[in-house]
Amino acid sequence: MDYLPWIIGFVLFIIVISFLSSHFNRIKCPNCKKRNCLEIKREEISRQQVMFEEEEIIKHVERKDGLYGGAQEAYAKLKSQVGAQDSTTIRKYKVPGERIYYKVTYKCNNCSDTFTGNVYVDNRPPTVRG
Ligand SMILES: [Zn+2]
Repeated sequence: MDYLPWIIGFVLFIIVISFLSSHFNRIKCPNCKKRNCLEIKREEISRQQVMFEEEEIIKHVERKDGLYGGAQEAYAKLKSQVGAQDSTTIRKYKVPGERIYYKVTYKCNNCSDTFTGNVYVDNRPPTVRG
């Protein structure tokens, strides 16, 4: 079996998809409908408090004798023991953050028209793992 044509085809497919998605994510000029605009100004409108959902995957090992180990250092040691079983718990929690709304002014590179649009940026606190 010769896999090379399949690999080349797959790589080309990924390149085309990423090109198309980056093209259609760009903002469209309302005047000439071209997606060739440049951000020239950004001003903050408002800030809103939001709760973001985070997930923590906790790996632990359960032994048949009922003893339980959750610490990362003990993990490999316990796993090698007879009767040790892997189990995973997903803990969901919420962290407070901020959503900042901006009014953005764009200039079209094609027809030189300027227009505004609203965007928001999420300001999530860094995830603390312990
Ligand atoms: Zn334009």
